[in-house]
Amino acid sequence: MSNKIFKSIWVVAISVFLASLVFIMGISYDYLSAIQKKQLKAETELAAQGVLRAGERYFEDLDTEDYRITWIDAAGSVLYDNEANAERMENHLEREEVRQAIRDGYGESVRYSSTLADKQFYAAKRLPDGSVLRLSIVQMAVWTLLLGFAQPICLVILIALVLSFVLASRLAKKIVKPINELDLDDPEQYYGKEEYKEIEPLLWHIAVQQGQLKKDQAQIEKTALIRQEFTANVSHELKTPLHAISGYAELLENGMVKADDIQPFAGKIRAEASRMAKLVEDIIDLTELDNGGAEMKWEHCDLYRIAENAVDSLDVAASAMNVTVSVEGTDAPVKAIPRLLYSIVYNLCDNAIKYNRSGGSVAVGVRQSGDSAVLTVTDTGVGIPKESRERIFERFYRVDKSRSKEVGGTGLGLSIVKHAVMIHNGTIEVNSKPGEGTEFIVTIPNAPKEGEA
Ligand code: ADP
Repeated sequence: MSNKIFKSIWVVAISVFLASLVFIMGISYDYLSAIQKKQLKAETELAAQGVLRAGERYFEDLDTEDYRITWIDAAGSVLYDNEANAERMENHLEREEVRQAIRDGYGESVRYSSTLADKQFYAAKRLPDGSVLRLSIVQMAVWTLLLGFAQPICLVILIALVLSFVLASRLAKKIVKPINELDLDDPEQYYGKEEYKEIEPLLWHIAVQQGQLKKDQAQIEKTALIRQEFTANVSHELKTPLHAISGYAELLENGMVKADDIQPFAGKIRAEASRMAKLVEDIIDLTELDNGGAEMKWEHCDLYRIAENAVDSLDVAASAMNVTVSVEGTDAPVKAIPRLLYSIVYNLCDNAIKYNRSGGSVAVGVRQSGDSAVLTVTDTGVGIPKESRERIFERFYRVDKSRSKEVGGTGLGLSIVKHAVMIHNGTIEVNSKPGEGTEFIVTIPNAPKEGEA
């Protein structure tokens, strides 16, 4: 960048200098031409005096190389010319400067001479006898002027080149210095500073991007931490049933279990194994949801029928807990992912049964509200303390750990529900009175997210 700035400054400086030089040469040329003309006039006056005094003899010892001198009689015939044969010269009466001189006493003109190829200045003066004395000089050529000035011009160009080189490189360094010294980790400190005024929009941009990067970084770190915790939790959750299973199996293997106890032992092994299977299933579901449900199919479906199906499949569990489950409401058509809607209803109802009391009930309600389908799952269970209501959606969070394990909970059910609701752009709300019961309200808007229609 510094190189580019340097080159630009240098090129501009040299261009300006050369343009000025050409301009000054042009003016000098005009000025010198004017002086040449003035001198020619003075010389003509002097020569006229000479001819007036000495007549034809004036030309005899005339020694002039610079001027051409011509004497023309009143009729236009050339009497004398120092550069051409007078007798062979044509009548000069029609020459502009001669005509002017005859008319006004003095005349001037500039033209290409007919006998000589250069551009010439002519000055003519009428003498008292009516004859005309004319002097002419070749106008100085531009290159003559240039040649005359060659040495100083070369010197000036050299000085200008060196000077502009030094200045341009210094200037380029000075311009780039504040940019090189920028601390990009903290661009805000330069706001309002004189030397950074021009790049302030860039600094703003960098600051905004840096803010975004920091946020992204924090998000990445948070996600990594959550993953780490999740993996640790999963290992722990899997280890517990495995230890139990191997413990029971060992006792059986060593014949340390009475014949009567073999059946309950087998039942315990089966229960632990199915808890593990449920945990693995939940983990698979969550992993799929973590990917945003991109591969899941959006379909027109009816939340009411999905709720009925989910409740049906929980029939046995409900009977085992001595809990009655009812489904009420109306058709609620939505465009959604049916599998996830099923999972939402299933997990909420499963919890409502698991954390209920014997003889309690679960009421599932489905209705349509505007463009959304609304699901309510109300139970008469243990309720959720206020301070836990936010946290129950966290992975592996349980209000009562032993109760959750006792009823075969994995600690992942509500995380799956929350995630599934989020994918549908829906909302979930919890109302609960500890000791009396809990109500979950899920709203699923009909319009799917853009691009998933
Ligand atoms: P779990 O597999 O332990 O049920 P969830 O994620 O489904 O895990 O629920 C988290 C915790 O929230 C549960 O352990 C329980 O303490 C509490 N909970 C969930 N639903 C209810 C409910 N309907 N009544 C009371 N407590 C509930």
